[in-house]
Amino acid sequence: MPLLEGSVGVEDLVLLEPLVKESLLKNLQLRYENKEIYTYIGNVVISVNPYQQLPIYGPEYIAKYQDCTFYELKPHIYALANMAYQSLRDRDRDQCILITGESGSGKTEASKLVMSYVAAVCGKGEQVNSVKEQLLQSNPVLEAFGNAKTIRNNNSSRFGKYMDIEFDFKGSPLGGVITNYLLEKSRVVKQLKGERNFHIFYQLLAGADAQLLKALKLERDTTGYAYLNQEVPRVDGMDDASSFSAVQSAMAVIGFSEEEIRQVLEVTALVLKLGNVMVADEFQANGIPASGICDGRGVQEIGEMVGLSSEELERALCSRTMETAKEKVVTALNVMQAQYARDALAKNIYSRLFNWIVNRINDSIQVGIGEKKKVMGVLDIYGFEILEDNSFEQFMINYCNEKLQQVFIEMTLKEEQEEYKREGIPWTKVDYFDNGIICNLIEQNQQGILAMLDEECLRPGVVSDSTFLAKLNQLFSKHSHYESKVTQNAQHQYDHTMGLHCFRICHYAGKVTYNVTSFIDKNNDLLFRDLSQAMWKAQHPLLRSLFPEGNPKQASLKRPPTAGAQFKSSVAILMKNLYSKNPNYIRCIKPNEHQQQGQFSSDLVATQAQYLGLLENVRVRRAGYAYRQGYGPFLERYRLLSRSTWPRWNGGDREGVEKVLGELSISSGELAFGKTKIFIRSPKTLFYLEEQRRLRL
Ligand code: ADP
Ligand code: MG
Repeated sequence: MPLLEGSVGVEDLVLLEPLVKESLLKNLQLRYENKEIYTYIGNVVISVNPYQQLPIYGPEYIAKYQDCTFYELKPHIYALANMAYQSLRDRDRDQCILITGESGSGKTEASKLVMSYVAAVCGKGEQVNSVKEQLLQSNPVLEAFGNAKTIRNNNSSRFGKYMDIEFDFKGSPLGGVITNYLLEKSRVVKQLKGERNFHIFYQLLAGADAQLLKALKLERDTTGYAYLNQEVPRVDGMDDASSFSAVQSAMAVIGFSEEEIRQVLEVTALVLKLGNVMVADEFQANGIPASGICDGRGVQEIGEMVGLSSEELERALCSRTMETAKEKVVTALNVMQAQYARDALAKNIYSRLFNWIVNRINDSIQVGIGEKKKVMGVLDIYGFEILEDNSFEQFMINYCNEKLQQVFIEMTLKEEQEEYKREGIPWTKVDYFDNGIICNLIEQNQQGILAMLDEECLRPGVVSDSTFLAKLNQLFSKHSHYESKVTQNAQHQYDHTMGLHCFRICHYAGKVTYNVTSFIDKNNDLLFRDLSQAMWKAQHPLLRSLFPEGNPKQASLKRPPTAGAQFKSSVAILMKNLYSKNPNYIRCIKPNEHQQQGQFSSDLVATQAQYLGLLENVRVRRAGYAYRQGYGPFLERYRLLSRSTWPRWNGGDREGVEKVLGELSISSGELAFGKTKIFIRSPKTLFYLEEQRRLRL
């Protein structure tokens, strides 16, 4: 029951009265201050990050939730995980658990709670335990390579993750598949003030023994590395050295060989050392500026480590070969261009290494294709983002969230509709904002913003971010969800907050202004061919395998898909996957900007509630009937309200409920009797029932 005695506020926002923004916030705050961090909207769990260890996890709690139905105990992620798992095991319905929220709101912790809950309740035996161990150990490995300290979160995931956990017909785990999205590779070469590079770099330097350091030609001191932000070598509460041994043993549990682990660390070291390669001015014989490597030793060490001559590497870093059908022209890069090339190489090596690690984990945990499986997907992905300066990355993330919102609305409504049908209750259409129009604006083939961006990237001639913006302005000036300075001027609206290089999208969650600077570059995501060819020439098996396009035999003139096109297609695959499953939602909220326990900033939460669409969620959820309950449990709770059913009742549950409700003054439109459940339209009616019950107790 959502109205357990002793509950703080309402445990289910569906019962909120009146339903307005203020009451929603007050309710979350009241609960948060009483350490009730979980609240429902129907079967959606809202989780407010406690920033402290609460005594509500672990085997004892898992056992409690395992034996109960969804509303019996206090709201909890365990209750949601339990419902999803049972439905998968007993009703053969594939599940997905969608976890969204902004950085630092607790998504990754929530996904780990789900995984550990499922691991605790599903199957037993040696074989099963080893599968579980592999699945769970994928977390520390991915976190080492994909997480970093940011201003918002000391352990922030810098990639999106979707993981399918696969089970046999009995509900024992067989394995899984991990998909990753958009690693923030710019972090490899540059970090904001107060932030760090990916954890693994610090873990390696702090945790490697003297022998390993020597073999990798590294020094323990982080100050020697240009790619490591010097202000924050350490993070409070984080022990890089011991994490390093945890990561190594996690890799071993998953099935990485010693050789593979060594190669991964070598490539990691290579990236660090690449950052120290200094490029300086040089002049060609004809006096034209060029660049050269001024620290020969670094290049030589890299060359030795990966089996590549230092001349080859220097040439790749400092010059560029243009190939036409007839001839090859080699041009020297100036210092800026050479530094850009070096950083591009480092970013590419690292992000490809990350993809390789994900694939390698999948090789170990993936189940054979032919086997019949039940699947639980867990999605841990960045929520809607509005930063001060929004670029290509925010555009991608917000596009993904737009799509997820679509899934949410469609699936929630569908689920409601299906329940009404199952219960034999007439369905009335619900009005809601359909964000299909925004999705189309972004993704429509040949016509959307992404298509325009690709067109600009591929178009011969002078292409720039401004020609791209001009194109958008021309095409979308009349679109109701598109704005820019130009379209505003045309309509004589002057908004000084919008720059000339910007366009604005009215997303479902709010307006976001994107700066088009470097959209073209980021979408192109090109690495000079000289660099990929040099990498492919390295003797190092892992490094070389990361650059298959460097193989001259394979080098076709066809360019790889753009970053936007790749992301769009992975989002499409994700959507298809989600639509085939029964969705479960965890909405995470960050209560304050300071990673502090006990602080609840209403303004901050209000913005997130808006981005998460919480009010809309409640509205959809109670558009028909706000509350429903099986006849049995409902009668059990309220039968004391009628002489006919109290103290004894020998009839059926449904008849009992009819008796009880028939004797109270409730208007008939408020109630609907389904096949197995009673439906109540408005929360007021439920409160009335509760009030009556309290009076009799
Ligand atoms: P996100 O993935 O949304 O960026 P995280 O899951 O990494 O956020 O959470 C950020 C930090 O907040 C964690 O490192 C942890 O310190 C704290 N945290 C999150 N959820 C909980 C929880 N349920 N209990 C205790 N601390 C939590
Ligand atoms: Mg995270």
